[in-house]
Amino acid sequence: MIPFNAALTERLAAIRAQGLFREVRRVDSPQSPRLVLAGKSTLNFSSNDYLGLAKEPALREAAIRAVEKFGAGGGAARLICGSLAPHHELEESLAAFKNVPAALTFSTGYAASVGTISALVGKDDVVIIDKLVHASIVDGARLSGAKLRVFAHNDLNELEDILKWTVKARSAGNVLIVTESVFSMDGDCAPLREIAALKTKYGAWLMVDEAHATGLYGTHRRGLAEETGVSEEIDIQMGTLGKAFGASGGYIAGSRDLIDFLINRARSFVFSTAPVPAAAAAATAGIEFVQSSKGEERRKLLWERVAEFHSARQLPAPKFPSAIIPLIIGDEGQAMQAAAALLEQHILVPAIRYPTVARGQARLRITVTAAHQSAEILQLATALNSHGES
Ligand code: PMP
Repeated sequence: MIPFNAALTERLAAIRAQGLFREVRRVDSPQSPRLVLAGKSTLNFSSNDYLGLAKEPALREAAIRAVEKFGAGGGAARLICGSLAPHHELEESLAAFKNVPAALTFSTGYAASVGTISALVGKDDVVIIDKLVHASIVDGARLSGAKLRVFAHNDLNELEDILKWTVKARSAGNVLIVTESVFSMDGDCAPLREIAALKTKYGAWLMVDEAHATGLYGTHRRGLAEETGVSEEIDIQMGTLGKAFGASGGYIAGSRDLIDFLINRARSFVFSTAPVPAAAAAATAGIEFVQSSKGEERRKLLWERVAEFHSARQLPAPKFPSAIIPLIIGDEGQAMQAAAALLEQHILVPAIRYPTVARGQARLRITVTAAHQSAEILQLATALNSHGES
């Protein structure tokens, strides 16, 4: 047997040797386009705070009011005595925003997906996922014990082949398809209309993770499902409260039965202390903001900044407008070097590597937000152009 610390030292050396070592960076300022990193003001293109709400006064004030009225801690699980008024107000406001009968919130989006998938399906069932879905979906599917089948990214033919196989292979089990609507590391979108049609054709269930779409797409900014007109076909709408909503947490929106079932069976909900009241209150204020005319202004501003970035790069704008702009580099070490070179110019763009993306698919992941100034967008584009990053 290898002594504990020696075993870890060996494993860490292997991670380092592959260019995959990660460490957390201390930030001494709130989320915003400029962060204080190691005492220096740094231009930030790495946040998912797409509408610039994380330090918006309305959200901060809502959080402060919740602390004053309900204290700092959740106290116990929601099912014990932790289900405070701010959690209920948040869920009512989420259900209304998503135009569904009910919603349930979790401490994180990760907990929402893991708990929901593992509650809904089991060993007699099949889960079918897009190859590029988030780790929380993969982990939920694995934990469920269901058979897991993966289709190549956005490959409808392969999805249909798997669905045909399930018709032949399954006895009494159910089939759950899970995809993201806007993919977190690629910024492209799923063909939701076609996936919804396949779901209906084969009698499957459909869950869509709108973490990177809620607040940004659709007439009411509900997400890509709204924009595509398929909300009704989606049985389980999942999203996060820590991205465009500017707070933290995750949610599931859908039928009353879905929510009642999750309250009873989603272990990440049942066995976890309630999120702090401040987080719930901030998220409610974030949802209100997103629905307001100011929310629409922020969204317009975001798409303007995204367009400015593409034009400053002198590259054609992608067909699908996205705040997530990946620059694929491939090699992990080269991606790290590119990120380090930008950081030397006080620009933070993260190098995303395995296991977040496949090996050899390392990239710079740029996120543009509504809070960026045009001059800041230009500064990033100029830095990338001069590095020859394409
Ligand atoms: N789904 C997707 C697509 C994500 O990108 C993320 C977080 N990056 C999550 C789920 C998890 O959400 P949270 O950060 O709230 O745990």
